[in-house]
Amino acid sequence: MNMALNAQCHCEAVKFTVELSDNFETIRRCNCSFCRMRGAVAVSAPLLGINVYEGRDKLTEYRFNTKQAAHYFCSVCGIYTFHQRRSNPKQFGVNVSCIVGVSPFDFEKVPVMDGIQHPKDGGGGVTGYLCYEALNHK
Ligand SMILES: [Zn+2]
Repeated sequence: MNMALNAQCHCEAVKFTVELSDNFETIRRCNCSFCRMRGAVAVSAPLLGINVYEGRDKLTEYRFNTKQAAHYFCSVCGIYTFHQRRSNPKQFGVNVSCIVGVSPFDFEKVPVMDGIQHPKDGGGGVTGYLCYEALNHK
């Protein structure tokens, strides 16, 4: 496991630590209807790699389409913090811009994931893994 990094939303109501799955090797954008509007660069973390230690009650959840991915936002400043991934429900995607000292402009090239042709759109059930379990761990 990597070192825990400090992360927060813009207004600092939500603060969390994150241990990334594979440092910044997994950074990507996604071209699905939601991500292209959101515009954030994401990086992967295991579900237990995120610990929201402040402002958990300020997080609001958004789901759409298959409802498998759970996107979390600060309800005060509106900044996307992280989401439970649909293509790999055992992972969160984390907004790199929320990680203290990291900017999406730090990376020369950010790969684009093809979320329009999502592998999960061929069918398949809901994963059943509840996000809040991950958010409530110690
Ligand atoms: Zn905020």
